[in-house]
Amino acid sequence: MNFYATILGSGAATPTIRRYCCSQVVNIEGLKLLFDCGEGTQRQVRKYRQKLQSLAHIFISHMHGDHFFGLPGLLSTMHLCGRKEPVDVFGPAGIEAATRAILSASGHNIDFEITFHELDFENGTKLLLDHKNCTVEAFKLIHSVPTYGFRVTEKPRGSKPPRSMAYCCDTLCDDSLLPYIDKVNLLIIDSTFDDDFEAAAVEKLHGTASMAARLALKADVDQLLLTHISARYHTASDLLAQARAVFENTLAAEDGLIVPIAHRGRSKK
Ligand SMILES: [Zn+2]
Ligand SMILES: [Zn+2]
Repeated sequence: MNFYATILGSGAATPTIRRYCCSQVVNIEGLKLLFDCGEGTQRQVRKYRQKLQSLAHIFISHMHGDHFFGLPGLLSTMHLCGRKEPVDVFGPAGIEAATRAILSASGHNIDFEITFHELDFENGTKLLLDHKNCTVEAFKLIHSVPTYGFRVTEKPRGSKPPRSMAYCCDTLCDDSLLPYIDKVNLLIIDSTFDDDFEAAAVEKLHGTASMAARLALKADVDQLLLTHISARYHTASDLLAQARAVFENTLAAEDGLIVPIAHRGRSKK
């Protein structure tokens, strides 16, 4: 089964020339799941050939603009391009009112059905999607506004154990997340800062490269992908080196990066 993530945007807070705001498509045997939709995501969808109208399941972690501001524009363009098929949007409480207000103010009568599934829980996991290819579960993250992480697990096929990935952004990289990311094959997680800014990361409820790596090690994940990279970094090389000193099988997200979600067995430090 094809299972891979395409990074559409890898930046934090504000779009830059090098990085758009946080967004990724997870493709699992043709089913495309969009996780977060920062400003300009629809442009990145096209740049990286994801086909706008193939996106029917959209998951928004929280209402900060770098994760949400692209959603009304994306839905508007779907409408302008003639969409009739429904779209399901999963996100925190308030996302429906905010999105519909923007679409209404801009005069759009959207021609397709949008079903909002608002998340409002503190503990444990909630099953959001049960598709023939995979399940998607949500769990609460640690951030300044209500924020949810997501775990995608493929449906069992054959003798190999099902692969899984987790996306955690924005969040403090805290041990309380361990039950939700345990042994995933790919962990995509907040690494806004390098290690010199650990105090700032704790204060602002984000992660550093080493905090992400320590969490990956404890959770026994296969591969770590650092994302939500602060605009202060021209390259992610320092963050990558800091993370790899703790957890070797680490990549840093770049816009356009494609990461296959492989079965276990890669070397780890
Ligand atoms: Zn953010
Ligand atoms: Zn945030």
